[in-house]
Amino acid sequence: MLIVHTVQDILMDITDEEGSVSIIESILKGKKSDIDIAEETEIKLTTVRKVLYKLNEAGITTYKKKIEPKNKSLIYYWKFHQEVVFNMLANESEKLKEEIEKSIKYEESNMFFACKANGHRYKFENASEFNFICPECGDSLQHQDNSDKIMELLHQKEAAELMVNQNGKSHLFKLDTKSE
Ligand SMILES: [Zn+2]
Repeated sequence: MLIVHTVQDILMDITDEEGSVSIIESILKGKKSDIDIAEETEIKLTTVRKVLYKLNEAGITTYKKKIEPKNKSLIYYWKFHQEVVFNMLANESEKLKEEIEKSIKYEESNMFFACKANGHRYKFENASEFNFICPECGDSLQHQDNSDKIMELLHQKEAAELMVNQNGKSHLFKLDTKSE
């Protein structure tokens, strides 16, 4: 079963850095330069830059370079693009929904037979080929009612649809409030 990720999961997947969530939170709170972000999060500046560049490659962050007038050093000002992450989440939910719909179709359009001993399951065509004897364990195959399974899949589909419609927005709250 596919699992829909949260904003945190996406940040972690892309950067492989625990601190990536704190770095994004820092940008959301208004810290824009990598130096300020490093100071606030107490994460090494090189790590902050590495994380932000990786997210930049994924289209999640962008930067503007500015020259500090005092000492002529280059400063990078970063922006976090929430909508890109929302779209990633919405796409994931959409794919999940499609997978579930396929499973529902498969369950609805087939009759299943299973052995009691180990729960090995076969479509009717296969079960009849095996003369209703499980080829894996030799137990007899009996008709299996899959209506509970279909109900469960319908619930999962509803949940996935909700995720698509929310466009991932609820997850950003989690990011802001650090509830998890
Ligand atoms: Zn069996």
